[in-house]
Amino acid sequence: METKFTPWRMDYIKGGGAAPVSGCVFCAITEAPPDHDRENLVLHRGEHCFAVLNLYPYNPAHLMVIPYGHCSDLALLEPRIANELFTLTRCAVGIINAEYKPQGFNLGMNLGRIAGAGIAEHLHMHIVPRWGGDSNFMPIIGETRLIPEDLDTTYGRLRGRFSSC
Ligand SMILES: [Zn+2]
Repeated sequence: METKFTPWRMDYIKGGGAAPVSGCVFCAITEAPPDHDRENLVLHRGEHCFAVLNLYPYNPAHLMVIPYGHCSDLALLEPRIANELFTLTRCAVGIINAEYKPQGFNLGMNLGRIAGAGIAEHLHMHIVPRWGGDSNFMPIIGETRLIPEDLDTTYGRLRGRFSSC
């Protein structure tokens, strides 16, 4: 499926974002200095996990909560890290509710590439707000998804609210 941003900010993806990295992109974000958080779309850094906007969102404000540690096995996630993963997920849902007023959410982890994980080797929780009609003919017939807000705007709307997490 193709993702298109409106208004046309594909230049953000092509040139303005983080430089391409080899290896795990989530580890690269983890290890980047905090002053790179804006260009890396990092909304919040907790003790064990961070929240970041998805570079290829299914909907506006599609973000992810990710443990810092590189791990693909949910069973190996320490309880304190798992707790923070869910606490931060819950907080993010509240923030998106307050700012975007969606009609519902999909929350989930794709464990393994066969399950649809784009980055299977590093656990991450997707938080996708949903609105009626967001799965209309464009993504189904046209295999093109329209995102009516660019990532920079989304980041600006959400970043400050995470100080309450
Ligand atoms: Zn990693």
